[in-house]
Parts: sequence; C-alpha cells; structure tokens
Amino acid sequence: MNINTKKLEKHLSKIVGKKHVFIDKPTSVAYAKDVMPYDIEEHNIPYAVVRPASSQEISEILQYAYKNLIPVHIHGSGTSLVGLARPKVKSIVLDTGRMKKIKIFPERGYFEVEPGLHVAKLREALSEYNAMLPVFPGSELVATIGGAVAVNTSAHAVDAALGKPGDYVLGLEAVLPTGEIIQTGSESPRKPAGIELTKFLIGSEGLLCVLTSIRMRLLPMPFFENIVAYYKSTDDILDTVMEMYKQRISPPLFFEYLDGNAARVGFQAVGLEAPPDAVAMISMHSSTREGCREKTRKFLEFLEIGNPIDAKIVSDKEKWNKIWASRAEAGNYIYRLGSTFGSEITVRVDKLKDAFHEAQDIILNLESYKGSEFYSFGHIGAPTIHAYAFIPTKELSNDVKIAITEEVRDKTEALNVKYGGCGGEWGLTAQRVSFLKKKYNEAYFDFLKKMKMTLDPNDILNRGNLEGWR
Ligand SMILES: Cc1cc2nc3c(=O)[nH]c(=O)nc-3n(C[C@H](O)[C@H](O)[C@H](O)COP(=O)(O)OP(=O)(O)OC[C@H]3O[C@@H](n4cnc5c(N)ncnc54)[C@H](O)[C@@H]3O)c2cc1C
Repeated sequence: MNINTKKLEKHLSKIVGKKHVFIDKPTSVAYAKDVMPYDIEEHNIPYAVVRPASSQEISEILQYAYKNLIPVHIHGSGTSLVGLARPKVKSIVLDTGRMKKIKIFPERGYFEVEPGLHVAKLREALSEYNAMLPVFPGSELVATIGGAVAVNTSAHAVDAALGKPGDYVLGLEAVLPTGEIIQTGSESPRKPAGIELTKFLIGSEGLLCVLTSIRMRLLPMPFFENIVAYYKSTDDILDTVMEMYKQRISPPLFFEYLDGNAARVGFQAVGLEAPPDAVAMISMHSSTREGCREKTRKFLEFLEIGNPIDAKIVSDKEKWNKIWASRAEAGNYIYRLGSTFGSEITVRVDKLKDAFHEAQDIILNLESYKGSEFYSFGHIGAPTIHAYAFIPTKELSNDVKIAITEEVRDKTEALNVKYGGCGGEWGLTAQRVSFLKKKYNEAYFDFLKKMKMTLDPNDILNRGNLEGWR
C-alpha cells in the first residue's frame, strides 16, 4: 500500500497537534523493535507514530485510519515479551503515553485511570490512600496500566490467591476500530446488566478496541511477610507447589522460583553470595498484621515438606528487596546476554514436574542449535515455568535466531497442549496461533477471527497479531 507519509503527518497533526506526530526514521525504528531476538524488517517500521491526549482524538485517528484502510498498532510501553509489541505490518503506531490522568474516589470505592500511566506510578498514587493495586508485572516501572489490562496479566501474583487484574475492573471506556467511543460496566461492584462487555474487552490485546479509561476497585492495603527458601534442586520446589494444591493449602500472594543457574546469576548481580542451587521467594498477605504472621508461620511449617536446606522469614526490608531483585536481574542477564524465546509453560498442576523435565530436555537438545544452556524461573506458585535456552544470540544469523525461536516455541507449546495448560500471559496471541489451533481446533480459531472482523471489518487494529505474523 502506497502511503504519502507527509500527507499522513499533516492529517494526524490536525487531530493531535504537530509536536505529537513523528515520521522520522529513528523514532519509527524505535517503535518497530521489541525483545524478540530476531531482526526487525521493513514491514515492522511504522509510517508514523502518533501520541493522542484523549479518547476523542483516538476516535478521530481511528475514523481516519478506518476510512483510508491504514492499520493502527496500539503501543503502551512495548514491554510485552513475546512479539505483541512489534507492529506486523506498516502501520500508524498509536502511543498512549500522554494519557496518564488518574481520579481516585475513596467514597465510591474505585479509581479511574487513563491507559498510559505506568503501573509503578499508579501504585504510588494509590498507596497514598492505603490501597493496593492488584497488578504486578516485573516491568512495572515502565509497563502501562492499559497494557496490563489489555493483556490481563496476573504476573507475579498467584492467581489462586488474588485473581487477575480484570477481576477488579468495574468498567471501561473504549474506542472501537470504527471510531465509536463506548462506556461499559458499572460504578457498583455488582454485575452489570446483560452480556458483560467489560469482561469481553479485558485481555483482548488491542485486537478489538483501544482502552482509554479503566475503572477499578480500591482494595485495602494488606500486611505482608516474606520468606526465602534455599533448595538442593528445583525438583523440591516443584514437589512443594504440587503438594500445596493437592493439600488445598491457601497459596501465597507471590511464590517465585529461580533454578540453580538463574539463582547464581541473579544473586551475584545484586551483590549476594550465590546460593547452593534453586531458590523460592514467597510473600504472604493478610488484612491484619497478626493474621499475616500466623499465615506465614503456618506456610513455613508447610514448606518443610520439600526439605529445603534453609527456609526463613526475611523481616529486613532492604535484605528482602535485594533477594526479590535477584529475580529481575536473572531475567535481565538472560535477555541481555543470550535469550531466545521466553516460553511460558502453565500446565495442570499435577504435571508440573514432568513438564519441567521435558522442557529441560527440549532446551538442552535443540535441533536448531547445539550447546544451549538451560535457565528457568517464574511464578511457580501460579504455576508457571519459564524455560529459556541461553544462547549468545548476538553472534547468530537472523535465520538461525528465527529457527531457534520457533523450535523453542513449538516444542514448549506442545507441553502446554499435552498437559492441559495454555500460557497466555505476556500478551502471547501473536506467538500462539498454531498453539490455539492445536489446543482447541480450527473452528475455535475461526470464531476468534470472525469476532475480530465483526468489530473491526477493515482489520485496522494490531493487524497480523491474530494471524501470528512476524
Ligand atoms: C522485565 C519484564 C518483566 C515482565 N514481567 C511480566 C510478568 O511477570 N507477567 C506478565 O504477564 N508480563 C510480564 N512482562 C511483559 C509485559 O511487561 C506486560 O505484559 C505488560 O503488562 C505490558 O504492558 P505495556 O504497557 O508494555 O504493553 P505493550 O507491550 O505496549 O502492549 C501489550 C499489548 O496490549 C495492547 N495495548 C496496549 N495498550 C493498550 C490499550 N490502551 N488499549 C488496548 N490495547 C492496548 C498492545 O497493542 C499489545 O498488543 C514483563 C516484561 C518485562 C520487560
């Protein structure tokens, strides 16, 4: 499609003002990239980047794009790890970064926030009201609340303890691909009348609408206690999680693990001595201090089932922050120095250990690359395993990077199919197309496509993500 970018710039400038439209190459290339290990191609580089300030402006942009058949890719902060953030076709990138307003209504029991506010900033604003934000991505310093609700990620929180962010959303304002602005939901916590459009749009990954305002319940800030546990092997942690569900032990709010390799690099990066092998990091929460202490004491007792080398409560905040930061540092190390595809294995809980060992075998015996190392970590209490092939990708050709990515993706997805899981955090649709067809069937996938085409007949929003294009 032949687009006159100067003309496009002029038109978009009329809507949002000249200084909020970019057609220069460096900006366009910056918006074409994400953390997927393979190179960007010409079709990923947008025609223009536009930064609107209101739903009205977004409506006008979408009406223009719809009429002129120009795809629009929605950008929060672009941190979703596995391919959603990269435009798949030449597009206008719509960056929500200027939409950051928040209104907190303690007397009504909710707050309303625009999509571009960073999660950490929102948490800070809510903490002044002693309220907890139930959204915990590791990327919270940069990830937007719009991106988090569009993906509906529980992230570090154990779903069985807290639910998903979408469970706390009372209503939305959204702009449809054809430009109409709609309001959904209610100002009351009770179910609204009719089919719940709020639930339908949460987690729709920018395929069906642009979220422009999110109304969420104000949750009381709980008390927290933290536990670190050191193990001889990851197997002991997996056994513990499997027993936790089998025995119907109330799960902690956070239950993260690092295998031996990830723990070594993570602990060293924060200046702590490398642990003997795998590590679990656990946070308990409760509405009272005493309740939290009691819950933590009981959970510590339960942890004995996995024979930890040592398991203890960490009351020193600074020490805990360091231990907790080792998890993020392990991720940074892997992505900076040699990651391929961040697989997400979320299988039936009784198959957790089998899935872990099969993932390890897959990574250590890749056909597309010999000599990869296995690193893993994740929200094990959720239960989620991230299995990484640690490979110095910078030295590889683009074809090899693509081959490794696809091999890791396809083989780890097969584990999700085999063991009854799915794996949909991080915003995975763009990488999940073949998986969805295998797990469900073609009819399921056709239904998704029909739904998309009904709401977005010209396939304007995030084109290519539902097809699994690169
Ligand atoms: C270090 C690190 C740790 C992470 N940890 C986690 C984790 O623990 N769990 C997890 O699930 N993810 C995690 N992520 C992935 C990612 O950060 C989250 O999914 C995050 O919520 C995405 O937010 P974003 O603003 O970057 O969204 P983007 O990546 O910009 O967008 C995500 C998707 O939502 C769409 N979108 C964005 N804004 C809107 C909107 N307003 N309306 C409609 N659609 C929209 C986009 O088009 C895209 O399809 C991590 C990433 C990093 C880098």
